[in-house]
Amino acid sequence: MSTFVESFVAEVESRNPAQPEFIQAVREVVESVEPVLEKRPAYREAKILERLVEPERVIMFRVPWTDDSGEIHVNRGYRVQASSALGPYKGGLRFHPTVTLGVLKFLAFEQIFKNSLTNLPIGGGKGGADFDPKGKSDQEVMRFCQSFMTELHRHIGPDTDVPAGDIGVGAREIGYLFGHYKRLRNEFTGVLTGKGVDWGGSLIRTEATGYGAVCFAAEMLEASGDTIAGKTCVVSGSGNVALHAVEELNRLGAKPVTLSDSSGFIHDPGGITEDKLAWAKDLKLKKRGRIEEYAVRFSGATYHAADRGADHNPLWSVEAQCAFPCATQNELNEIDAQNLIEGGCRAVAEGANMPCTPGAVHLLVESGVLFGPGKAANAGGVAVSALEMAQNSQRLSWTREEVEERLRAIMRGIFRRCADAAEAHGLGRNYAAGANIAGFVKVADAMLDQGHV
Ligand code: NDP
Repeated sequence: MSTFVESFVAEVESRNPAQPEFIQAVREVVESVEPVLEKRPAYREAKILERLVEPERVIMFRVPWTDDSGEIHVNRGYRVQASSALGPYKGGLRFHPTVTLGVLKFLAFEQIFKNSLTNLPIGGGKGGADFDPKGKSDQEVMRFCQSFMTELHRHIGPDTDVPAGDIGVGAREIGYLFGHYKRLRNEFTGVLTGKGVDWGGSLIRTEATGYGAVCFAAEMLEASGDTIAGKTCVVSGSGNVALHAVEELNRLGAKPVTLSDSSGFIHDPGGITEDKLAWAKDLKLKKRGRIEEYAVRFSGATYHAADRGADHNPLWSVEAQCAFPCATQNELNEIDAQNLIEGGCRAVAEGANMPCTPGAVHLLVESGVLFGPGKAANAGGVAVSALEMAQNSQRLSWTREEVEERLRAIMRGIFRRCADAAEAHGLGRNYAAGANIAGFVKVADAMLDQGHV
């Protein structure tokens, strides 16, 4: 690694102690864009990187709420407003016990480049709380959301910052958050995306991230003369992203064979077909059950409990030609990458944010596996969020076909920008570096234009 990257990352580390995910994300971008900085000294002189690693604003607040038995709990809420160079801050809210300032700073940093890659007018942000919606009643979740919004509403708005969902924040939570914002502000505006389609939401928003990740994988395969049809695919997670990735894989004639949650994974060698997927969606999205039940319901499928102490995840040892990590960060390490390669994997598209460790990414890229980084492959969700903002501004709703067509065009555009940037810098099919470069250049140019802010 170059001295510039080493000393830059060391400085960021010393200013942001105990934020390993943030440092990991920064290092990855800085490594990729170093050749660009060498070619364009103006970026260095204007301290573009130094400014990008410092969020424009971080809001951190107390979220007190009362459970059904009357006991008071206190969680910590956050909003990281990373960059408004290209538009209002845009990025999801995550409710999960693992949420920390460092995790949200990593996600907000990634979001800057992801949103830039979409070519839509959106800046980057991320937020959430260390609250676990799992096992809570609807009333408890509503009280939490209302308390969270009681503070957050001061800092967001349709032209300022437009949050969406992420892990633990789905249609139910967005509904409660929106309802309380409306009550506090006396305004019905497009302040959140992922809203119900009857009250300002966009068709296809729920499906967009999973559909987009599969579209990105299909583009990578097509560019190398292959197709996704007929491919056996391993998918992790069983939330919004994973379930819709499975749906799109079926539609394109591929065979998805796994799903997982934090307790373990199921393997269905016969394929998670449309009817089985409908059942899994009901289980995970409506009944909030465990994926283990899939193997009880469908003969031929097996369940494998997670072993937290293991040095690898056996889900990635299932033989497949394509892999879609769609659960959480750092869920696929170097050993897992090796197992995928040995199993004949041709393409990996990240549905989740940074699910592959740096060692895994390096190994996959070096081994010639087509690799779609999260900031490109999972940008379909935020892209349709921006389309939801456009519909809200116009007070119109576009048809399913119209949104779907725009989503596919945006994903194809993102793929092209990654591929062109990689090619222009002599990086072959290294789409991870291509995504960082293309995402960075657009933000950097906007920052040059807007002066030292
Ligand atoms: P959901 O909450 O709907 O689902 C998350 C899934 O991942 C669940 O199956 C959950 O299991 C599993 N999971 C979460 N944490 C862990 C963990 N520590 N170990 C193992 N499994 C875990 O979230 P989404 O599907 O919305 O998000 C998944 C990923 O995609 C995240 O990285 C998110 O940032 C990213 N993403 C999401 C977008 C969206 O539009 N929703 C947009 C772009 C990226 P369990 O049920 O046990 O909790």
